[in-house]
Amino acid sequence: MIVGIPKEIKNNENRVGMTPAGVNELVRRGHTVYVQKDAGANSGFPDEHYERVGAHILPTIADVYAKAEMIVKVKEPIEPEYPLIRKGQLLFTYFHFACDRKLTDAMLASGATCLAYETVELKDHSLPLLIPMSEVAGRMATQEGARFLERPQGGKGKLMGGVPGVKPAKVLVIGGGVVGYAAACVAAGMGADVTITDLSLARLRYIDEVRPANIKTLYSSEFNIRAELPTTDLVIGAVLIPGAKAPHLITRDMLGLMEKGSVLVDVAIDQGGCFETSHPTTHSDPVYEVDGILHYCVANIPGAVSSTSTLVLTNATLPYAIKLADKGWEKACAEDEALYKGLNVVDGKIVYPAVAEAFGLPC
Ligand code: NAD
Repeated sequence: MIVGIPKEIKNNENRVGMTPAGVNELVRRGHTVYVQKDAGANSGFPDEHYERVGAHILPTIADVYAKAEMIVKVKEPIEPEYPLIRKGQLLFTYFHFACDRKLTDAMLASGATCLAYETVELKDHSLPLLIPMSEVAGRMATQEGARFLERPQGGKGKLMGGVPGVKPAKVLVIGGGVVGYAAACVAAGMGADVTITDLSLARLRYIDEVRPANIKTLYSSEFNIRAELPTTDLVIGAVLIPGAKAPHLITRDMLGLMEKGSVLVDVAIDQGGCFETSHPTTHSDPVYEVDGILHYCVANIPGAVSSTSTLVLTNATLPYAIKLADKGWEKACAEDEALYKGLNVVDGKIVYPAVAEAFGLPC
């Protein structure tokens, strides 16, 4: 198969869809790989590293899209890429269709096959291509939250771990999945007083068994969240309903319960956000204020640590990319149920129910 690796063009997205190690595996199997010039440069992979394992470097993004039968990338295509995508082409990347009608319409019109990383799902319902980025985003969410609690950054000027004689900051993590638990562990490691809420009692039981002493669990309800807010300094929103828009668990009126200069980090922003007042931000302008509360809503948090993120992402995507290249998407998806669940758009039709429901479209 002819595989294309374009350079990411979303704001501050420094990751790349495949490492030279991944390209090496594809070339060894007889596939042809085209990599856009400088695609890996911001992740620490210069063009020579790709050429050394047999990739062909192409000067422009249009060249890569024109040659490739399968495009492997990181983020969803953005507007300048829409006209480059053609009927029958396979796109293997994150899409997050449910919160982006324009993207959905563009992909339906293109006639391409869209296999979304975020809905590839194993039998135990885990999401193997979301987990690595969630592990990174969760750790980063706390790091960034701690930074914006600092006064010069607009926060209330509170140190996460406190100091002898002064209490630590209080952190509330909403959603105790991969992002939430990673965020909580980093916050706990910094010495904060951490509470995790979730709707899943099984998940709360698991966390209760493995948690450090300064993480407590709390059942997620509007009542409990309201009760926590007056004493919470940093809230990390990390809920997920797979393939669907995130529910708004903190509404605008609830901001009034918090002290000014508190920080909300909405990691679920890529699914529409779990706070009513969230809107997507970028690494170059990551925060804004509503009613005295700082909001950090960067939709591609792992992009900031591109070297770590590219390595961990391609560890997870490569086995699937190899199957797709070796067998073609129809055979690969027929043989691998996890990959089949990744199909979101095929031949101008939505085939993933939660995406169709989000827009009231047929599936
Ligand atoms: P996950 O499935 O591991 O965890 C989600 C958790 O949310 C589950 O434990 C679920 O029970 C819980 N949940 C659902 N509804 C809830 C509610 N009402 N109250 C409390 N908990 C609730 O998912 P994850 O991998 O941790 O991802 C979390 C979110 O982070 C997703 O929206 C994902 O897309 C997003 N994400 C964003 C970035 C970014 O850069 N912004 C990066 C990675 C992941």
